[in-house]
Amino acid sequence: MTRTDAGPEKAPVADLVVRSTRVHTGRQEIRAQIAIKDGRILAVHDLGEQVVANRELDLGDQLVIPGLVDTHCHFRDPGFTYKEDIASATRAAASGGVTTVFDMPNTEPPITTPDRLREHLDHLDRNSVVDYGHNASAVNPSLIGELAAAGAAAFKLWMSYDVERTYPHSPATAVTDRAVLYQAFEQVAATGLPLYVHPTDHELYNLMSSRAKASWGVAPASYARSFRLGDSVAFNAAVATLLEFQRSVGTRLHVLHLSSVEGIRMVREAKVAGRSVTGEANPFAMFVTNDWERIEKRGPFVLGQWVPPADNLAMWEAIVDGTVDVIGSDHAPHTEEEKLPGWQDMFAAPSGSPMIADYLRLMLTAVYDGRLTLDRAIELCCVNPARLVGLAGRKGTIEVGADADLVVVDVDHIAPIDGSTSLYKCGWSPADGLVTRGKVQRTFLRGVEIYREGQVLVDDGFGQPVIG
Ligand SMILES: [Zn+2]
Repeated sequence: MTRTDAGPEKAPVADLVVRSTRVHTGRQEIRAQIAIKDGRILAVHDLGEQVVANRELDLGDQLVIPGLVDTHCHFRDPGFTYKEDIASATRAAASGGVTTVFDMPNTEPPITTPDRLREHLDHLDRNSVVDYGHNASAVNPSLIGELAAAGAAAFKLWMSYDVERTYPHSPATAVTDRAVLYQAFEQVAATGLPLYVHPTDHELYNLMSSRAKASWGVAPASYARSFRLGDSVAFNAAVATLLEFQRSVGTRLHVLHLSSVEGIRMVREAKVAGRSVTGEANPFAMFVTNDWERIEKRGPFVLGQWVPPADNLAMWEAIVDGTVDVIGSDHAPHTEEEKLPGWQDMFAAPSGSPMIADYLRLMLTAVYDGRLTLDRAIELCCVNPARLVGLAGRKGTIEVGADADLVVVDVDHIAPIDGSTSLYKCGWSPADGLVTRGKVQRTFLRGVEIYREGQVLVDDGFGQPVIG
């Protein structure tokens, strides 16, 4: 139906109306017609109402959810584009229903100065398929104000760096000196932006990894255990430091990689006390490295950190009860050639794995398995990450005035994940073989269909900046 008569209310004619009996707005599931004009949501009508639009898309009872917002991804670009690049990663993002991305600064060169940030944002603009921002490095406290003015979405710090390998945790993006870390907290607080921190106490982790090597050698199982020695003390001591600095300074602290009983307890307590603290959990820890058998079977291709049963239980409680605010993909690809030597010496092989195309499938499967509600999954993947970066009401939600970022999900799709058919440059996934229910069929960004059934429909560079 095409109508030019806008009717008695003289409502503007929508470019497109999307109809479904199952629209999850970010707050609730409703029957709705989403009217879109100039890339934004003009109105959300009930199914019975008459809506004037130039184009119509009737999706029947297919599930429609807001586009995902991923505040934690590593695109390896610039510097390591043989693993992944901005274009390949964001095409994979579109295939996974992710319409807004914020990449991390551990590239080569690392994004530590205002000039590099400006250059990187241009690079994202030319290459990103989806909307984007960047989490700049806070290693130089004196540059933090200028980085914020140059368009940083947030700041990122690692508290440790790799000793036997040079990547992915390079000394260039890590702060091990607490006085410098404290000054970073002060400078970031002055910008009002959040500070994302990878919490691992450098010296304690080095002690634990040397103990693991002495007990079990350098194979993947030893590496997996190294993080958990002393009941995750390297992780928990770092969380304690971060929370104390947050209390002292008032910075908006976002604690990454929550996955230990005690770390979660401390973050929960700080949140209950009303402190400006948020938490992140990652799909690899929720779905992959919480299974020892899988660690033994796939070794370097899943590590990262092992999540033992008690920690796994605490992490899922935190995901359900709100202690965890955000799911960040931690998309962190490496090539098969780089991973394979990890079977001999995992301490020398890179950690991290791709995820950006897979995590919505894993989250939906958890919903169908009864581990969390669809409401909660969408809060974690869409609503809350948008709020974290100041984009509430614009991204990660289906409401009037928001960008028309929509994901159409085939909820009946049941199949194993297969990285060899993914859009990842590396061609494998840590979730390979996991059977999931629910898959992205179509993705819309600002009202434009950017992905449909295996095909990206727009050119590299279609994405726009969301900050500034
Ligand atoms: Zn990461």
